[in-house]
Amino acid sequence: MSKQHKKSAKASKRLPEKYAGAEELYGIENWGKGYFSISDEGTLLVHPTREAHRAIELKAVVDDVAQRGIGTPLVIRFPQILHSSVRELNEAFIKAIKEFEYDGAYRGVFPIKVNQKKVVVKEVYETGRRYGYGLEAGSKPELIAALSSELGPDCLVTVNGYKDEALIRLAFNGMRMGKRVILILEKISELERILDVAKKKGVKPLIGTRCKLYARGSGKWAKSGGEAAKFGLTTTEILETVEILRSRKMLDSLVMLHFHIGSQITDIRKIKDAIKEAGRVYAKLYRSGVEIQYLNLGGGLGVDYDGSKTAFDSSMNYTVQEYANDVVYNIKTICEEEEVQVPTLVTESGRAVTAFHSVLVTNVVDVADRLEQDKTVHLSGDENTVVRELYDVFKGITAKNVRESYHDALQYKEELFTLFNLGYVSLEDRSTGEILFWNICDRIRRHLKSLKEVPEEFEDLEAMLSDKYVLNFSVFQSIPDSWAIDQLFPTLPIHRLREQPREFGTLADITCDSDGKIEKFIDLRDIKEWLPLHNFKRNQPYYLAFCLVGAYQDVLGDLHNLFGEANEVLAVVDENGRTRIQDILPGETCERVLTYMNYEKSEIMEGVWRQLRKNLEKDTMKDAEAKAIAKDFEVLLAHYTYLDV
Ligand SMILES: *Cc1c(COP(=O)(O)O)cnc(C)c1O
Repeated sequence: MSKQHKKSAKASKRLPEKYAGAEELYGIENWGKGYFSISDEGTLLVHPTREAHRAIELKAVVDDVAQRGIGTPLVIRFPQILHSSVRELNEAFIKAIKEFEYDGAYRGVFPIKVNQKKVVVKEVYETGRRYGYGLEAGSKPELIAALSSELGPDCLVTVNGYKDEALIRLAFNGMRMGKRVILILEKISELERILDVAKKKGVKPLIGTRCKLYARGSGKWAKSGGEAAKFGLTTTEILETVEILRSRKMLDSLVMLHFHIGSQITDIRKIKDAIKEAGRVYAKLYRSGVEIQYLNLGGGLGVDYDGSKTAFDSSMNYTVQEYANDVVYNIKTICEEEEVQVPTLVTESGRAVTAFHSVLVTNVVDVADRLEQDKTVHLSGDENTVVRELYDVFKGITAKNVRESYHDALQYKEELFTLFNLGYVSLEDRSTGEILFWNICDRIRRHLKSLKEVPEEFEDLEAMLSDKYVLNFSVFQSIPDSWAIDQLFPTLPIHRLREQPREFGTLADITCDSDGKIEKFIDLRDIKEWLPLHNFKRNQPYYLAFCLVGAYQDVLGDLHNLFGEANEVLAVVDENGRTRIQDILPGETCERVLTYMNYEKSEIMEGVWRQLRKNLEKDTMKDAEAKAIAKDFEVLLAHYTYLDV
């Protein structure tokens, strides 16, 4: 990493003295990929077609749908970004195939598991139709969705995951309906089952084998590959599969070799290693007389969430085009060396196709800042000595003694609590001591701003002084990977972006779970422990967006505290740059989430009425009030699960 790079990363630990603008502060140019920018008025714009003159202003969308009764949290989807992503992937392979004169084609499939929402799947396969871009399914419901889709004639449907008889039957029904459905063996035991059902149905199966590579991925999903992977056949098992099929004169049913070394592969070298190994397996099999048609490289194509273009967990050190080039070039080279026909290339890239297409916007409902920081202290003289010591530290801070003052303050604070526990300090003194401590920290922070280099020991100070911005959403429902695997999503306000943010914030959601928080944010080199934010004024809405949440988040979300699915909006931009709201899908209501837990509305109302009747019998309530309360329950059952503020 260059020296200059390091230096700027160091500076980004603090709020910059000179405000270079929100573009730089939030790194939009690094991670935005041309889909995001900031307007002159300081609002966040989305360019679904990556054309500067065609923009959707998120704040305008939020305001527009709010007038129609659709509030935040709000998932805004951009179908045109899905189109762009599908085109980008397919065109990258077309370009690479042309450049390297590859004598074969690319037939990608979209893995439905990344986002099964109908609108997402539909937009993807409709754009993909002209490229012969198909679908991948890993369960019965996913396969049902895939088989009911209007795919083009050349498109594949690949089926991964464990397979029972019913799923195999479903696949063969799909074949009878005219789809090219390839069942990929995860376990060798599935082969007999497939052959049995095929015989009964009189269908010639199309079979793939997932192969366990020695090569592994990188990043958080490295364990998906390698010898100990959960799925896949060993070399011995692949050879056995070949023998079984050969003995039944069905070798031509083995049409695909598949591997998947994990999601979000951050390092291109890992991809190259896997391609080389899989390419060799393909070539050797081909040479031994198994004329495999498709080589399926699975998923793993990354998304640069932090924009650092590195092999960090939330980044990737290559582009989609480099990925396609490496696949095409390496497979071609191996096939030439081994003198075999090149395969049709298949990938199952999901994250890269969907991540950019949606943002989650929500509003700040409160800021839990420290009351102490705003208070001043006047000593009466009766305080405990330790309070007076803190007061002296506070009065004596200068730019030259910040370190010493900080150490003293920490020590006196410890003492304060020890003495309190022993009964020597009153509640009032404890409060005064705390106010002094936070004032000291605040003053030190101000001094730090004038220093060129911030000493290491103060790096936590800013995180410690950060305010907690409480947001109207559930981490568990809307960005579950933030909680589950510490995934970072670019996060920033959607307005006030020409105004220099002067607060340090961490984020909390409205669930009653201490894990419902976000304290790690993207940074070019490092991970930031706070987000630069504007001061929150209670009478003015302040909205933040979590970007790049289109992959996996919609489906992995759960109902913690019974916060349900968020409202959704589909937004497109027309040729003239005008925004059109294509569709609005209201989120889940209280009634809906309660039914998941087996509470029926009728039962709930019965329970309510039973209690109301008791009050009526005892004459502690009038008829009209009972009716009004019951009515209110009905109204609230139809409400959105989130806060209406
Ligand atoms: C999850 C999965 C994918 C999708 O991976 P991405 O990294 O999202 O592209 C593809 N293939 C298989 C077999 C998978 O399990």
